[in-house]
Amino acid sequence: MTTPSFGSTLPWAEPSWYTGRPSPYYKESHCRLRDAVRKWCDEHVAPYTEEWIEAGAVPPELYQKCAEAGFLVPIAAGKSIPQEWAHYPIIGGIKAEEWDGFHDFVLWDELVRGGRVASIFIGLVVGAPPIRQFAHKALQDKILPEILSGQKRICLAVTEPSCGSDVRNLTTTAEKTPDGKHYIVNGAKKWITNGMFSDYFMTAVRTGGPNSGAEGISMLLIPRGEGLRTRPVPVIEGGLSATTYVTFEDVKVPVGNLIGPEGAGFRQTMVNFNHERLWIVFQVLRGCRMAMSDAFTWALKREAFGKTLVEQPVVRYHFGHMGRKVERLQAWTEQVVYELEHLGPEAGARLLGGVTALLKVESGLVSGYVARECLKIMGGLGLTKSGQGSRIEGFYRATPSFVVPGGSEDVLIDLGVREALKLHKQAQKAKAKI
Ligand SMILES: Cc1cc2nc3c(=O)[nH]c(=O)nc-3n(C[C@H](O)[C@H](O)[C@H](O)COP(=O)(O)OP(=O)(O)OC[C@H]3O[C@@H](n4cnc5c(N)ncnc54)[C@H](O)[C@@H]3O)c2cc1C
Repeated sequence: MTTPSFGSTLPWAEPSWYTGRPSPYYKESHCRLRDAVRKWCDEHVAPYTEEWIEAGAVPPELYQKCAEAGFLVPIAAGKSIPQEWAHYPIIGGIKAEEWDGFHDFVLWDELVRGGRVASIFIGLVVGAPPIRQFAHKALQDKILPEILSGQKRICLAVTEPSCGSDVRNLTTTAEKTPDGKHYIVNGAKKWITNGMFSDYFMTAVRTGGPNSGAEGISMLLIPRGEGLRTRPVPVIEGGLSATTYVTFEDVKVPVGNLIGPEGAGFRQTMVNFNHERLWIVFQVLRGCRMAMSDAFTWALKREAFGKTLVEQPVVRYHFGHMGRKVERLQAWTEQVVYELEHLGPEAGARLLGGVTALLKVESGLVSGYVARECLKIMGGLGLTKSGQGSRIEGFYRATPSFVVPGGSEDVLIDLGVREALKLHKQAQKAKAKI
């Protein structure tokens, strides 16, 4: 479909379909969503972002506003919204049955552009999907209305001080009480995004006893309560995403809060990672476009050695390399979103888990490259926390968050290759049977 031109006309400031060029992926409802999110963010987010960064927090009442505006349901849902959630508001008036992976992409693209509101939704993005996908109905009926209406907040707690990449060796224990009605949880989780303001912790725990490996891991929804303590962990990108250290000391949790069967937690965690990784790529793409747009604006007016920066061939050379990397990442991302749309969840995870890992790696590399080049073009402004270089300064500091969380670069490269080889072997076996 060809859509009317929208947004900035600076090179690479917007995805190509915004400029009116044809695309097979986007239709009228994607444009409607894009327009609505941009308008909402321009009104409710952009004017306040600097204030929030200064204060180190987004005001809690904004979360409720976001619920009313229809952000929470699509954010919790990801690439498809179930009919049971259709009565909640959805931003842009998109119908639940219309929503697809490209709406998810557009939503995040515009949210990230809108300002720093995106950081308050991270726990919801990664913590809510296991409830929908794996929890029993009674738990869904109890928890989802609270989460989707914005009354309660959730985060995902997998990583521990002693293990991050190596999920199968986590040590937080959940032991059943003698009457079998509760688990008693002991341990600690580190770097838990949004933990400070969460009411529920979607937590990977060991139910299988010591040395039980991946099969001994379960997912447990732990409400904030007695024995659960949180404290902030200051990180490079600042405090808005409320990175948290969580301790559990004899925390009593009803067995009904178990997500799926005991021992399924490792697989659930791995499945959950796929959308998290794709969502990191969405954020990178818009972060790069914003950085390039600010750098272009500056390069068109700043003069050095008797001409504007953009009149220097070396400066144009750097823009050219940034542009090709960003467009390449956009095209690969759209391909993966399209493939996920057309594969069922099981085939999607099986065929695209490794691909998504590599896509996320690529996004980390592209973000680092673009942030560094844009910072350089801004000169001293690129290192300054206010004014025309501030978004680039913030993006530069944020880039490690695209490289380590959600699976660290080297671990994911290896995963990508192992998954590709696994598919190759399966295909060989299938051929041999014919
Ligand atoms: C800002 C931030 C937010 C986060 N949010 C959350 C959250 O909300 N919930 C949550 O559960 N976790 C969260 N995390 C944790 C994050 O997922 C982990 O930090 C990440 O998985 C890496 O784990 P680690 O820090 O223990 O590093 P380690 O696992 O100790 O690895 C350190 C380094 O060693 C190398 N390495 C390790 N193993 C291998 C291997 N097999 N092959 C090659 N190289 C390897 C890699 O370079 C890796 O970066 C967050 C982290 C940060 C920094």
